[in-house]
Amino acid sequence: MKPNPDLRVRLIDLRSKRGHGKRHSIRRPRASLTAAERRQVLGKTSGRCHICGGKVEDEKWQADHVMAHSAGGTHDVDNYLPAHATCNNYRWDYLPEEFQFILKLGVWVRTQIERGTTVGNSVASAFAGHEARRVKRRILGSGKGSTSN
Ligand SMILES: [Zn+2]
Repeated sequence: MKPNPDLRVRLIDLRSKRGHGKRHSIRRPRASLTAAERRQVLGKTSGRCHICGGKVEDEKWQADHVMAHSAGGTHDVDNYLPAHATCNNYRWDYLPEEFQFILKLGVWVRTQIERGTTVGNSVASAFAGHEARRVKRRILGSGKGSTSN
């Protein structure tokens, strides 16, 4: 398969733009939200994850920064929305343009996998291996307090 230098350059360019707000943000230690503040954050979406729209159950949801802290977002209740840990961790601090591109790419890859195209089969196989290694690392890493690999 032919490499696509334009796409590669675009992705690298988006990555390089990320975090440029860090230099301008005022560093303030993250303070835990109180129980009342967490209820306030959860109420903004009627108990739903603001990323995927799914219901957030129990206390495991995360208060996600609307404007990333790395881009200068504050730790105030106004700057938080509820999110599943998985959604929040995968969204990370991508720029909006970068995140939209990742969504488009993911939807396109999903279609390729469903259609059983050559690229879809290749990605599905590579991704299955990646996931298996990731899960194995998590299992091996749990309880040891180490994330090195
Ligand atoms: Zn979610």
